[in-house]
Amino acid sequence: MLDFGLTGKKAVVCASSKGLGLACADALAQTGVNLVMCARGADTLEAAAEELRGKTGVDIKTVACDITTEEGRAAVLEAAGHVDILVNNAGGPPPGDFRDWTRDDWIKAIDANMLTAVDLIKGVIDPMIENKFGRIVNITSGSVKSPIPTLGLSNGARAGLTGFVGGLARQVARHNVTINGLLPGPFDTDRIAANINFLANQSDQTPEAVRAAMEERNPSGRIGAVEEFGFACAYICSAKSGFLVGQNILLDGGNFNSNG
Ligand code: NAP
Repeated sequence: MLDFGLTGKKAVVCASSKGLGLACADALAQTGVNLVMCARGADTLEAAAEELRGKTGVDIKTVACDITTEEGRAAVLEAAGHVDILVNNAGGPPPGDFRDWTRDDWIKAIDANMLTAVDLIKGVIDPMIENKFGRIVNITSGSVKSPIPTLGLSNGARAGLTGFVGGLARQVARHNVTINGLLPGPFDTDRIAANINFLANQSDQTPEAVRAAMEERNPSGRIGAVEEFGFACAYICSAKSGFLVGQNILLDGGNFNSNG
């Protein structure tokens, strides 16, 4: 049997009641990792945690909070205690035209998709270094490698996070603490449905037609399944992945035409 070497470790998985965050929580729980999960909606969060408890038997604490607030982050870190694995995630900024975005819109996006992750990293990294084990995965976006024109706020904020952690990852790697980005292309979640609706409204097509075209354009002929994303996260967090440092791993079915 393949052993991820993670049994009994503790992970904070942010924004994890649904979608990609939940998929990461699910995969980590399947490798024996105890979890702290968070999201703003308490009922959906608790239902998701209960399902994972039933499926895997790991210990799961839930914190209903907005992870982009200082109070939210403090509550999550307090519930966790020592953290071995941190999966940073938060809702993505809305699409739109940059002419409409105010300074406040930019600050909100940078806060949610850059500074929230930086602050959580700051909260967990020194004990990880001391413990000689730490895995930090930032869920960003394929837009880090291949910017999406309608998602300018996301392109900007996530590029900032990626640049910052690229340097930090190289400062902590010798302590067996790794920081990597996991970059989703189109995955089948509520978020992608919202983006499809936005594109449909813009182009006078039905959401079904936009989705079909998106699938057709992708070399894999489909949109990704969230389990595929969770599995990649579990690998990046595994005990044997300490040589994977400061990478941005794109999971997009080959959509971005590049050798890496
Ligand atoms: P999703 O299906 O909409 O799920 C978002 C999850 O995050 C929910 O559990 C939501 O619960 C939680 N959440 C959102 N804002 C939060 C906050 N401020 N504090 C705490 N929890 C929060 O989204 P997803 O598709 O998994 O996307 C996850 C991230 O990947 C997003 O940043 C998205 O932009 C990015 N991404 C996704 C795709 C894709 O194809 N799916 C592609 C590229 C990038 P509550 O609403 O209850 O808080």
